[in-house]
Amino acid sequence: MQTRTPSASAGRCWRFERLLVEGHWESDVCVVVDGWGYIEAIGEECAPERSAQGGSAGPCERVAGWTVPGVPDLHSHAFQRALAGLAEGRGPRSFWRWRDTMYGFLAQMTPDDVEAIASQLYIELLKGGFTAVGEFHYLHHAPDGSPYDDVAEMGRRVLAAARRAGIGLVHMPALYQVGGFDGRSLAGSQRRFRLDLEGALRMHAALEADFVASGAELGWAIHSLRAVHPEAIGEMVEIVPGLAEGRDGPVVHIHVAEEEREAEECRALHGAGPVEWLLGSVPVDRRWCLVHATQASAQELSEVARVGAVVGLCPATEANLGDGLFPLPDFVRAGGRFGVGTDSHVARSAAEELRMLDYGQRLAARSRSPVWGDTVGRAVKGSALAGAGGALLARAWEDGCRALGWLAGRAARGRRADLVVLDAEHPALVGRDGPQLLDSWVFSGSDSPVRDVMVGGSWVVRDGRHRREEEVGRRYATTVRRLARVG
Ligand SMILES: [Zn+2]
Repeated sequence: MQTRTPSASAGRCWRFERLLVEGHWESDVCVVVDGWGYIEAIGEECAPERSAQGGSAGPCERVAGWTVPGVPDLHSHAFQRALAGLAEGRGPRSFWRWRDTMYGFLAQMTPDDVEAIASQLYIELLKGGFTAVGEFHYLHHAPDGSPYDDVAEMGRRVLAAARRAGIGLVHMPALYQVGGFDGRSLAGSQRRFRLDLEGALRMHAALEADFVASGAELGWAIHSLRAVHPEAIGEMVEIVPGLAEGRDGPVVHIHVAEEEREAEECRALHGAGPVEWLLGSVPVDRRWCLVHATQASAQELSEVARVGAVVGLCPATEANLGDGLFPLPDFVRAGGRFGVGTDSHVARSAAEELRMLDYGQRLAARSRSPVWGDTVGRAVKGSALAGAGGALLARAWEDGCRALGWLAGRAARGRRADLVVLDAEHPALVGRDGPQLLDSWVFSGSDSPVRDVMVGGSWVVRDGRHRREEEVGRRYATTVRRLARVG
């Protein structure tokens, strides 16, 4: 359950020219945001509610353009932002070779570097239409594998970056114990990743107060089946509040069945594919996010759909790594839930991830609508979500928020005021209306119409600019130049 923290914009209100409310474009809508950054009231009138909240007097600020919920980025490894484009050499470009490049790069990375890179990334994500990020964090220790004096040093740096950018954060320290299914010890750069349950609990305890004070959230992560002892997963389920009993509580993320070798090794060891083994070993439910699941079978995925776990798809990264295509049409037909993440950050835009997701499926199926079939266009009359772009966004909003336990994704009372304003005069959107609007955002190219971004009732991007982008950009440049010299 999300913690509520008072924000600077207590009792503010805005009047939106066009706002997406329950799947429809509403005109001239007033949104009142409470002192915690949540939507207190929404409708034609706002002054009475605002004064009831003790807000400041004066007219509501008017906001032109098309306003939609911010998209949650459910899967990020922030430090990898600095690697984008560095592992594209000729020759066999397998996942494992990319991983070796990544390991070499991060052997040098300090907490200062991680904070600088994450700050840059989070500003880019905001400008790309994301308003919250799930940080799947496994860079825990110093380069030689020894813990920092403060065991939660890296987590604090990630939080500092999120605060500087103003993005919503769900930080998930990942368990990481072994170097493969054979149980081999962590070696080289992997020593920085070591984290057992006890360590994760210590990290949570050290970070909790700062996260609560910042309105950020903590979750749990298991790096992958190949990186933890099987029994640790069951033990984790026992200690994460409410997880074993199926109650509400923090979310759990895991990389699973990302590429073929991993799936084969899992079958050889456990006699079951990664997803089948996981679902058969612990009670996976709606609090779980299975990241990638590219190699899962139809049977495994229908079971994932049945238990209500979210599949976290990272289309640009999966394409970059050559992972393969997730069988999205079958999963959607089975009632499966999915959201998107930017993972290694070779792309940093919500529209781009969704576009790539749909295009991959179209290319594979040689069909223009393999995911949605004839359901697209048959949506409720007047729906803004009737096209493929709207259908993709609807899942990214709702299921992405479920995956992060983040109470946003809709302009509705009780939800966080995480909103993105699209420029109605942008060439991608000018003259559009109805469902064409969201379809044009997703499918008309990479020139972003995102103009303003609000997170928890505070503007963090105005007129396409973030107020800290120069300062953060300079620090990022210094960091990347230094890493390039030592790497
Ligand atoms: Zn990942």
